[in-house]
Amino acid sequence: MATPHTHAATPGHEACSGCSLCLLACPVWRATRDIRLTPHGRAKAIQNGVAVLELAESIDACTLCGACEPACPENIPLVDAVQQLRKQLAGLSPERDALLKTLLDQHVVVNHRQGSASETLLVPDRALAEHPAMTERALKLSAGRPMGMAGDIGADIALMLESGTPVPGERLQRFLDPLQKVGRLVVGDGLLLRALRTWLPGKPIDGFGFAATSVANVRRSLGQDDFYVIESRAFHSDWERLVLHYDALRVESGCAMNLDLQRLAIPTTAGSLPALTGKNRVDVHDQARWILEGREFSRIVVEDFNDIAIFNAVTDKPVVHLAELR
Ligand code: SF4
Ligand code: SF4
Repeated sequence: MATPHTHAATPGHEACSGCSLCLLACPVWRATRDIRLTPHGRAKAIQNGVAVLELAESIDACTLCGACEPACPENIPLVDAVQQLRKQLAGLSPERDALLKTLLDQHVVVNHRQGSASETLLVPDRALAEHPAMTERALKLSAGRPMGMAGDIGADIALMLESGTPVPGERLQRFLDPLQKVGRLVVGDGLLLRALRTWLPGKPIDGFGFAATSVANVRRSLGQDDFYVIESRAFHSDWERLVLHYDALRVESGCAMNLDLQRLAIPTTAGSLPALTGKNRVDVHDQARWILEGREFSRIVVEDFNDIAIFNAVTDKPVVHLAELR
C-alpha cells in the first residue's frame, strides 16, 4: 500500500533520456512552461526517488491527451504511466479522494440506458450520451451495417481509468458481458478504448471518429472549407494506423485538421480530469485559438462533443459534431 513517502514507480520512466521532445506536444508545457508538470519532469523526479505525493500536482495536471507518446523516442507508455501514478495517489489525500468520489457518483447516472441488440455496438462517451438526439444520429454512421447502442456506456469506468480508481471486478464484468457478445465495438471515450483492447483481445474495436469517417457519405460531406478536429485520446491510442487514415481523408476531402508537429493530433483538453475538477492548467480557449491559428475555414467539425462549446466560444464560424454529417 502506498504511503505519502512511497517512491513513485512506473515502468518505463527509467528509460527517459531527458531529450524533452515530449514538451513539443504537451499542452500543459505550452500553457505553463513548467517542466515539473511534463513527462520529462516526472521521469527525472522518479529516477531520483521522489515520493509519489510530492508529484501529485504534476500527476493531476496531465490531461491524458496522449500527444506526448508518439513524440517520445524511448517509446515510454506515458499515458499508462500517469494512470499508474494516479493509482498510487489514491488514499493519500482525503481532499482529492472526496473530489473524485463526488465526480464518480455523478458519472454513474448516465449508465444503464435501454440497450439495443446489434452486431456492432456504439459505446458513446458521456458527453455524447447526454445528448440523445445526437446519439441517435451517431448510430446511423455505420457504413451500411446496423449499429446498436450499449445499455451500459461505462462512464464511471472511464472516469476510474482516468483518475486511477480501481475498477471493482464485479462492475467490470457487468460492463464487459454484453460487449463480449457482439462482433464489433465503436467506442467514444479514448481511455476506455485503450482499456477495452486489453480487456477484450481480438475483438474489433474502433474509435468513433475512425468509424464515422470510414462512412462514404461522411467523407463526401467534408470539404476544403472545413477544419476537422480529431479527438486526441482515441487518435493517440492507435496513431500509427490512424495517421494514415486521417491523412487519406485530408487529401481526399481537402479539409484541414488539428495535426501538427509531425502529425500529432493537438487537443483542446476539454473534458479531461483537470478540466472536470476545475484544476486544468491549460486554458482551453487559448488552446483552441492556438489550434485554429493561421487556418482558413468556413466550418469546424469536431469528433468530441466537449469541443463544440470550446470552439463556439473562440470563433463565430459554425461548429458541428461529426454525427451531424450525413
Ligand atoms: S498526456 Fe498530454 S497533457 Fe499529459 S503529459 Fe502527455 S502531452 Fe502532456
Ligand atoms: S520524450 Fe520521452 S525520453 Fe524524451 S524527455 Fe520526454 S519522456 Fe523522456
